[in-house]
Amino acid sequence: MSQIDLHTHSTASDGTYTPFELVRLARNTGLKAIALTDHDTTGGLNEALKAGREMNMEVIPGCELSARYNGLMHILGLWVKPETPDLNKSLLELRNKRNARNQIMIEKLRKLGIEITYEEIKLLAGDAAIGRPHICRVLMNKGAASSIQEAFEKFLGPDGKAYVPKEKFNPDKAISVLKNDQATVILAHPFSMNLQQDELRKELIRLKDLGLDGVEVFYPEHTKEQTSLYSSLCKELSLLPSGGSDFHGSIKPHIKLGKGRGNLNLPYSLVEAMKDKRAEQGLWT
Ligand code: AMP
Ligand code: FE
Ligand code: FE
Ligand code: ZN
Repeated sequence: MSQIDLHTHSTASDGTYTPFELVRLARNTGLKAIALTDHDTTGGLNEALKAGREMNMEVIPGCELSARYNGLMHILGLWVKPETPDLNKSLLELRNKRNARNQIMIEKLRKLGIEITYEEIKLLAGDAAIGRPHICRVLMNKGAASSIQEAFEKFLGPDGKAYVPKEKFNPDKAISVLKNDQATVILAHPFSMNLQQDELRKELIRLKDLGLDGVEVFYPEHTKEQTSLYSSLCKELSLLPSGGSDFHGSIKPHIKLGKGRGNLNLPYSLVEAMKDKRAEQGLWT
């Protein structure tokens, strides 16, 4: 059966494969379609779409936004348009906030006695939407941490000594920015919101009123119980089920494209259902 992956990252944000390499890996893995969903940027989409055309791979242009919430709320937009001015203005705003935050984290690291500069991060990250994984990689190159995990634990994770919270849009704005660009809007990895079943149900109803189209039911960190709960909530609330690995390349070496931790089997019918809804809404696919 044809398999897909609707949540992946490239070097346009904090992944380690270029968009071209990612599409090539998808083809070599035998996937039928992938969505590129970099954090806060559409910068990798044109390269991925071009690679998709060359390799006869279906590439769905997307992006991932973080939203302000008690737990961790991430929102994916699928079928975003890479060049839309309004969306790109909002994404630029988010990347500028990222850079301001990165500067403060670097100052904190320097105060801890680590000689690290913004220029070094920039050299490693190039034009990417820079995030904590880039800073982690520079810390590892300097020997200040032996793994990404250690760098997060000691320095950049929520309990780390150089942690600074990220500025985000509230959920309403994150959804409306994507909806205005005619995207299909998916709540990513709902387990990360840390909600009880009834709370999640209420939140999904609220988000659906704001324009949410679907939920990432299938995700490497979801237990069987979570997967079946999210799946039944989708059926009950007429939300589209989605699924993806959140592939980032070598910064999350245990996660494989299309396979997650090994058993993520995502059928193409998930994409078909999304396309059917988009066709009903009169949106492009
Ligand atoms: P940022 O967007 O700068 O806040 O960085 C968040 C990103 O860091 C996430 O999208 C993940 O890719 C990565 N990340 C967060 N926590 C960890 C962790 N414990 N281990 C590896 N990567 C992580
Ligand atoms: Fe990431
Ligand atoms: Fe995420
Ligand atoms: Zn992601």
